[in-house]
Amino acid sequence: MNAVDTIHSAALVRLPARRGVAVWLHRGQTLKLINTHGKQVVDTWAFNPDDLCEAMSMEHSRPFWLKLNPCKGDSLVTNKRRKILTLTQDTSPGVHDTLVAACDPTRYVQLGVVGHHDSCNENLFLALDALGLVAIETPSPLNLFMNVPIHPDGRIEFAAPVSEPGQYVCLTAEMDAIVVLSACPQDITAVNGREPRDVHYCIL
Ligand SMILES: [Zn+2]
Repeated sequence: MNAVDTIHSAALVRLPARRGVAVWLHRGQTLKLINTHGKQVVDTWAFNPDDLCEAMSMEHSRPFWLKLNPCKGDSLVTNKRRKILTLTQDTSPGVHDTLVAACDPTRYVQLGVVGHHDSCNENLFLALDALGLVAIETPSPLNLFMNVPIHPDGRIEFAAPVSEPGQYVCLTAEMDAIVVLSACPQDITAVNGREPRDVHYCIL
């Protein structure tokens, strides 16, 4: 299925390039996230709506999986080690990242940007604010479609995504959850294909 077919197969919502959105998922509902143009990284968080201090945690999920990245069928757990989302479908090559923090204003200053630059960290707080919510910190995100190869000597690298247009992931809620998506504004390194693009999503 190509990107155009995918977009017309369901009532999809556009998440514009460089922007974020917070979505309420009830237990059992599935968020389908489509990498419309193929090379867009999407930073993803999930919070317990009743207690935003409980959030999806990469450092708690990795020992649950005993690997670095989730594959189809793997659940993501919170900092209280409760399942919050399960990766129920993944038509991409399965290259995602759980190691790298969300981009933020300081990151862009260190990369040489002068003046304001959109960031996933700001997108997280703006998206939650739109629902009247405030998080006390930025958990490490699940960086969907982000390609961070690990070399034999332990070095990591920011490489271009290997996903293709129209490929998608599905995340199913194991508990009620506020899921936040940020179409990463990174345009300085190769990790986001150097061109932030729209993605699309729907609730199933
Ligand atoms: Zn980012």
